[in-house]
Parts: sequence; C-alpha cells; structure tokens
Amino acid sequence: MYDTSRRSVLVGAAGAGLLGMVSGASAQTSSDTALQPSRVPGTGGTDPGPQDPIRSRQNPDILNPPKTDSGTLPNLRFSFADAHVRQESGGWTRQITERELGVSKSIAGVNMRLNAGGIRELHWHKEAEWAYMLYGQARITAIDAQGRNFVDDVGVGDLWYFPSGIPHSIQGLNPDGCEFLLVFDSGGFDEDSTFLLSDWFKHVPEDVLAKNFGVQNADFSHLPDPKERYIFKASAPGPLGPDSLLGAPPVPQSFSHKMLAQKPIKTKSGTVRITDSSVFPVSKTIAAALVEVEPGGLRELHWHPNADEWQFYIEGEARMGVFASSGQARTFDFRAGDVGYVPFAMGHYVENTGKTTLRFLEMFKSDYYADLSLDQWMALTPPDLLQAHITLDQNVMRALRKQKVPVVPA
Ligand code: MN
Ligand code: MN
Repeated sequence: MYDTSRRSVLVGAAGAGLLGMVSGASAQTSSDTALQPSRVPGTGGTDPGPQDPIRSRQNPDILNPPKTDSGTLPNLRFSFADAHVRQESGGWTRQITERELGVSKSIAGVNMRLNAGGIRELHWHKEAEWAYMLYGQARITAIDAQGRNFVDDVGVGDLWYFPSGIPHSIQGLNPDGCEFLLVFDSGGFDEDSTFLLSDWFKHVPEDVLAKNFGVQNADFSHLPDPKERYIFKASAPGPLGPDSLLGAPPVPQSFSHKMLAQKPIKTKSGTVRITDSSVFPVSKTIAAALVEVEPGGLRELHWHPNADEWQFYIEGEARMGVFASSGQARTFDFRAGDVGYVPFAMGHYVENTGKTTLRFLEMFKSDYYADLSLDQWMALTPPDLLQAHITLDQNVMRALRKQKVPVVPA
C-alpha cells in the first residue's frame, strides 16, 4: 500500500489548486502549479531551482516515488513524443529502439502515419514485423518464398505480421490514410536501414538489370532517387478487386488478423484480448495482449515466464510498478503514445490513474502468451505453507482467487 496523501495528489491531478493544497504548503514555491519533490511533509523538499512543471505533473511517480520504490532499475519508459519524426511526402515515421530505450533489447517499435495514397515503399528487413492499426485504413501487400500472394485492407484494431525477410508494402487508403504501430522482434531494428526496392535498383549496374529482366539497358535510364521514395505521395487505390491475387495462389496462413473481433476475457473492471500463434498462426515471434482497464481498475500483480514485455499506451493514463527482485522496485507513469518495458520475469502491475478508460498493448517476443498471477499462485498454494511465509489476515486468505482475474476489481 502507498500512503493516502499520494493517492489524493493523483486523484486531484486535474486541479492545480488542489495539487498545491495536498502536497503541503511547505512544498509550494512561486509557481502555483509546480509539483514538489516532497511525498509527505517532512520528506524531500521544495525544488527552488530549474524545473519543468508540465513533465513533473505527467510523471508524479518519478518526482514523488512511492516509498516502496528502491534501487536503481533502468529506465522503463520512453515517449514517442520525444522521438525524432522523419517527415516525407507521403507521411511520417518515428521509432523507439534500444537506442532510445536502452533496456529494450528484444523489441523495437515504430509509429507511422501514411496520408491518403501515401506509400511505405516496397521493402523487406531481417526482423519480423507485427503491426496494430491505430487509425484509418491501409492496404498491405506481400508475397512469400513460394510465390504465393497476399493483399488485404486493414482498419482500426487489425493486425498484420510479416515474417523475417518477407517483402511488403503499406499504403494509406481514402478518406484520410492511416496511422499504425509497428513492432519488430529485435531492439536493434532501424527503420532507416531496411532493404528498399528503389535503393537496390540504384545500386545494380544497368547491364546487370537488363540481363536480369531480359530487356535493354536504356529501359533503366529513368530510375527514381531512393531519397524520393521510402514514404512517398501517390494516388489512393480503388477498392480491393477480385484480381488482387494477380493469378497466384494466396499465402496459406493470412498475414492479417482482426484482433478487436476476438471475444475478450471480461471482468468488472476491464477486458483482455490475447493474440498469439494459437489464433494468428503466422505470428511466430510476437505474442500480444490488448488490455482495457476502467478508471480505478488495476491490471493485477503478475509476471511473464517467457519473455520481456514491450508496451504501447493507446489512451488513458496509468502507472506501472515493477519489482526487480533483490529489494529493487520502480514506478513509472504513462499516457497515450508512451512505450513501457518490463524486463523478463519481473513482477508488475498497471493501474488506471486517469478518469477515462486505459487502453494499452503488451507485446512479447514469443509464439505464445503467458502470465502468472500472484493471486492465483497464492490461492493454489497450501494455506499453511503460505501462512508460514507471510502472515496474512484471514480476510486476505479468504479473498484469494483460484481463477485468474487479469483486471481487478473482479
Ligand atoms: Mn516493414
Ligand atoms: Mn504484464
């Protein structure tokens, strides 16, 4: 439990005046709205020097960590708002890789916008690519190594997965293109160093191109500058026609999946949809969960036995506490557009600290999703054995649940 005065600070975070009152008169300086590094009177102090009140209010658990926090865990949060935006004629892109978030060795993420008609150039890369559509609609294309074809239109809540080395493209559709999240199964991924169609053409001698395609050298005298492609402007295509397969058989396992159409696990306080290779067979290296937590709810104390967790916050506000063993724990605050990270096996919870629904994605470099519930573990342990470890009130013992409840209150 953390102390109630901190809770009041969080609940009152919308009102700057209330903030001042709750954090204590001793913690106030010239700025009415500044949150001071003083969890309770008599602890910490004011910050009379330089400060950024907006960032402080967005990260109350960094400025005033719960007293249960301890030790020197690495940074587990990075916001796309702090990521460089590459702007091109057809849209924009930004990335959070291990260069931005040092701890994220297993997964990297990209947030991309394609205007209506805008094309992410035909390309491939070493890493597998998993995607979640955040806004609008896109047409995606690919082929596999057996010459089988894939073309589909995807909308909000749809996923795609292109295995390692599979060539693909993405195009924004009418009326307003799309925005999506890409997740790659390596933290070292770099969106700026993928294998691009135009780039390869520019780096093969004309006579070799002519020989390869069985045409004349002169047929390649007007190749585009690769700098003009990557994410470029084009006309939005018409409806997906019956000729979309171009005479080739379709890929045997679809590269797209409708995650929002899955029936969720539902509790009183939220929902969880789990998508791994058991329901989206082609997705062999990324497993995911879409979690919704209502105000006041909590994604329960749990951990994952198979992989690190890479999170993307879609909407709402949250804080996550991470327990790292050896007496170490840290708490981070999140809002829309933030990426969070939980290193392998560390215990954690995610609490909705806002007034609206919290919605976020959990991703794992794995072909299956798995979590272990602290509550369920304790419920399924012989009571006397449990009591010998940690003396619990009978109220707690009676409340333990043998069925997993991913979002509480149940
Ligand atoms: Mn790609
Ligand atoms: Mn988790």
